[in-house]
Amino acid sequence: MNKTDNKLKQAPSTAWSIEDAENVYRVKRWGNGYFDIGDNGNIQVIPRYDQPGVKIDMREVIDEMVDSGIEFPAVIRFHDILRSQVELLNKTFRDTIEEAQYQGKYLGVFPVKVNQMREVIEEIVDAGSRFNYGLEAGSKPELIAALAYNTNQDSLTILNGYKDEEYIRLALLGLKINRKIVIVIEKFSELKKLIALAKQLDVQPFIGLRVKMMVKGRGKWESSSGERAKFGLSIAEILNAVKLLEQEHLTDAIKLLHFHIGSQLTDIRAIKEAVQEASFVYSQLVKQGVPLEYIDVGGGLAVDYDGSQSTNDSSCNYSLAEYVADIVYGFKQNCDLASVPHPHIVSESGRAMTAHHSCVVTKVIGEIHPSGTQFSTRKVTGEHFIVTNMRELEQNFDETNFQETYNDSVQLKEQALNAFKLGIFTLEELAKVETIYWRLLNAIAGHLEELTFIPEELKEIPEMLSSQYLANFSVFQSAADSWAIDQVLPIVPISRLNEKPQKLCSLVDITCDSDGKIDKFIGEEAVASHIPLHQLRSGEDYFIGVFLTGAYQDVMGDMHNLFGRLNEVHVVSYDDDPKDFYVEEVVKGSSVENVLSTMQYTPAMMAQMVKKEIDQQIQRGLIKPREGVQLIDFYEDCLLSYTYLK
Ligand SMILES: *Cc1c(COP(=O)(O)O)cnc(C)c1O
Repeated sequence: MNKTDNKLKQAPSTAWSIEDAENVYRVKRWGNGYFDIGDNGNIQVIPRYDQPGVKIDMREVIDEMVDSGIEFPAVIRFHDILRSQVELLNKTFRDTIEEAQYQGKYLGVFPVKVNQMREVIEEIVDAGSRFNYGLEAGSKPELIAALAYNTNQDSLTILNGYKDEEYIRLALLGLKINRKIVIVIEKFSELKKLIALAKQLDVQPFIGLRVKMMVKGRGKWESSSGERAKFGLSIAEILNAVKLLEQEHLTDAIKLLHFHIGSQLTDIRAIKEAVQEASFVYSQLVKQGVPLEYIDVGGGLAVDYDGSQSTNDSSCNYSLAEYVADIVYGFKQNCDLASVPHPHIVSESGRAMTAHHSCVVTKVIGEIHPSGTQFSTRKVTGEHFIVTNMRELEQNFDETNFQETYNDSVQLKEQALNAFKLGIFTLEELAKVETIYWRLLNAIAGHLEELTFIPEELKEIPEMLSSQYLANFSVFQSAADSWAIDQVLPIVPISRLNEKPQKLCSLVDITCDSDGKIDKFIGEEAVASHIPLHQLRSGEDYFIGVFLTGAYQDVMGDMHNLFGRLNEVHVVSYDDDPKDFYVEEVVKGSSVENVLSTMQYTPAMMAQMVKKEIDQQIQRGLIKPREGVQLIDFYEDCLLSYTYLK
């Protein structure tokens, strides 16, 4: 018996270094210089690309949040990362343009749809002002925001998306207050509307033509280009548009050629090919007398979410510098060959500007384990022989018979189930067989690492034994693309990275939906279905971060299960502070009252309705008046509280 007991103990934890943690979680590789693992095993943030000495310990940020009573899950925003990214993009274009002796300028715009939060837009406009960095809007509400926030008269406001008369009127309003508003024609009929309104309001429009590109993007968004693309004009339509504008004496208004071949372009070759194609269209139009001055390369600059630097859907095989060089040198070369002027370059990078600046931090609040429960397996007289055989299997288990023991235990468990279905096996007997079965699997798993050769069948065991960690958040609110399009987002424990993670886990959220889980993680080769995490310790919080959520994830969340928006803190780096940061702002997430109101409930009335029922019970003498008052107070307090678990 003792012999078996020894086997059941976990294998001793082997040495573990920060480097090992980096190999598992790849923090440096997806961190883009902004994230790292500190020597104390905590995630570290280096929010300014130009101040590598300023390091923020994420655990200290979290401790400060806990001390000031901020409940989790919460979004943590590093506005310095946002500023760093805007500066890096603009600087890289400026430096490359200078180095290439390119004749045009770079005038980038941030596409509002990627993160419409006011604080994000304000920070981007502010950080970009010295570069005349502008905004891109794709809908009327976004245009209304851009008109109010992009007040720099030297920066562009690019208008994409389908447009009705009101949208075009708003754009012309912008031109009247001296903004550089570019109306990009996505559909031929928009042009006729624009011509009529421009005449009516007596404004000279600034027109962009979006070309439907032949070249295919690469990755999940490749249908954004090609013949069947939703947006843009075919070459025939472009030529007709030019002719129409000529007839209306508006040739001078055609200033920009626009293309966008998709988001998250994983392969640099797609960008090279697009630049090639676009520069031919541009030079031929210029040669025909169309006074184009700008070329807009759209979005698509990818984020390496899984840190693999590959053409995986959640990665990319190029850097910012390479992306910019391919655009600048590509246009230069082709324009020089065609002897046409170099156009000003516009890009609409959204994902790459915002992804890194925000993350979601949540606590693991429980574990769901297939082999978690033990049932006494003591021998009783007259027990079924399957139970006896299973017990013997466990007693005879040793280093020499891993595979045999595994095969036999699987078979015995199946037999037990069949016997149970036939009514010749009791519930207690079934519980005993299952208990021994899981104990054996754990015992085998404990020895697998020592083997030089692991038989194929035994390789499945660690995954069979993996746990589901229950995390206090909603995938639908905070990581929509992980659910919708299998996007990989880096998930890393905030602390204990100097300790070997002993458990293979997947993550489940608190929504009542079996889809509410994350089972796509950074893996050694491709995407993994499990991630190593640490054993939970009682009385100690285990915080995990879902990183790179600043693009799309931040704003696409839905109201599944009425969880709503998260509490938010804005962290600003500050070198003179002993901890290198301070929390500039706290934005409260949704209360129960907020989310119910958006669904057309009237919380005050609901409290009245519940109160009435309680009063009735008081009258019947079933609830004491004092208790009744407490119950209604409790209901009202809950209406005001945070929607997530406490
Ligand atoms: C979505 C979109 C963008 C932003 O793309 P990213 O890949 O996030 O940079 C830019 N331009 C247009 C027209 C878009 O639709």
